[in-house]
Amino acid sequence: MKFNSSEWGQKRLHNMIRDRGDWVISRQRVWGVPLPIFYAEDGEAIMTKETIDHVAKLVEEHGSNVWFQREAKDLLPEGFTSEHSPNGKFTKETDIMDVWFDSGSSHQGVCAERDYLTYPADLYLEGSDQYRGWFNSSLITSVAYAGHAPYKQIVSQGFTLDGEGRKMSKSLGNTIVPSEVIDKMGAEIIRLWVLSVDTSADVRVSMGSFQQISESYRKFRNTVRFLLANTSDFDPNTDAVAYEDMESVDKYMTILVNRFTKEILDAYANYEFMDIYKKLINFLTTDLSAFYLDMAKDIVYIEAENSKKRRSMQTVLYDVAVRLTKLMTPVLPHTTEEVWAYLKEDEDYAQLSEMPEVNHFNNEEKVFENWTKFMRVRSSVLKSLEMARNDKLIGKSFEAHVDLYVTDEVKADLDSLDTNVRQALIVSALDVHSFEEAPENANVYDNEIAVTVEHAVGDVCPRCRMIKEDVGSDEQLPQLCASCAKLVRENYPEAVAEGLE
Ligand SMILES: [Zn+2]
Repeated sequence: MKFNSSEWGQKRLHNMIRDRGDWVISRQRVWGVPLPIFYAEDGEAIMTKETIDHVAKLVEEHGSNVWFQREAKDLLPEGFTSEHSPNGKFTKETDIMDVWFDSGSSHQGVCAERDYLTYPADLYLEGSDQYRGWFNSSLITSVAYAGHAPYKQIVSQGFTLDGEGRKMSKSLGNTIVPSEVIDKMGAEIIRLWVLSVDTSADVRVSMGSFQQISESYRKFRNTVRFLLANTSDFDPNTDAVAYEDMESVDKYMTILVNRFTKEILDAYANYEFMDIYKKLINFLTTDLSAFYLDMAKDIVYIEAENSKKRRSMQTVLYDVAVRLTKLMTPVLPHTTEEVWAYLKEDEDYAQLSEMPEVNHFNNEEKVFENWTKFMRVRSSVLKSLEMARNDKLIGKSFEAHVDLYVTDEVKADLDSLDTNVRQALIVSALDVHSFEEAPENANVYDNEIAVTVEHAVGDVCPRCRMIKEDVGSDEQLPQLCASCAKLVRENYPEAVAEGLE
């Protein structure tokens, strides 16, 4: 059997069953599911297969209220007699069945009875108080009756408490009405909040929690908007670049997004919703926003429209947009449906699409390893850039000229990336030297990487936003740096003729 909070839930149910005493299944209430017992004139209880089957048939035809509506003689089989009732008089039991027995036998009354349901059920889902209640009584009745549990999995959820951990109540005035949050921030925020907390235990919630979540929501929305904006001229059917032909960094991102896909699908399968939230935010923030999308700007805006380098990146951006949309559809159905209208997929609705597949690629371990190593170099450079910014040496990172001093091993790692390292670091200039040449003022990391940062020399090229010494070297396109001028001349001759606007 599988539990969402697996070990904890299993232990809890185990202990509840172990410590459970006798179960009195009758209750003294005026109404409920009757106990089909009759009494003869001398007090003898009558409970035979014949009488029970007859009552069961009446209940099937008229509902359980029939027990309360009819006299005892009208609930017994026609012509029923007993030696204990010489005058033919009978009375009926007035106690009812314990409600936990009712719900605890629903696996027979509901699951086993209906063609479209299965017994054992795939899943029992309820509040965490049901380890004592429904999960418990169902297990006992099913094991007694069939020798196995009535469910394959249990998922339990905690209760919501206020920000101080107190139970919510009207008299305390500490309740949060979901409809008010919905009016203020939208229903997606509530769902995203539920995703973000550990619902296997009780959960604290305050209006502040929703504020925080709405920022995460905005992060998702803005990321997808960026992906859509940068693929608006991309047709996945005609412009997509195959993995083998992609730029190195695009391969890396493709591998990452497939691994991310697997992690999210696994988390859904295991009901680990909080994990989905954490992984989503980390992917949006670290892998996309702080790295790939930052770099993407320099390629999607600058490279020629139909160049392979640009199409390679757009292939990934589009794939990421589709995957994020599909993966988040169960939680953010309105937002993802809105996004879907801009994607160029065959299905009409995100709701009708399948979850994305997890793909694997030739050599993916190696590519992943190379870029993981690059990320270490990058984090060293980022630290040095941060220091340079604090020293007012540079403003934005791309104003920097970075000198990198690395060991032969790190140099080989960088070469194996097969990428423009300067572009991947988003700086105006980069020179790579051997580690031994590092000057005294360099920042040294792990005894294998040293970094110095200066303000790049030259002027800002308005097209690629880098600072280059050769800005103005082209007579016809004097605003641009030499490489932008060359690219524009080759790809957009009409712009050159008109004088670049
Ligand atoms: Zn330029």
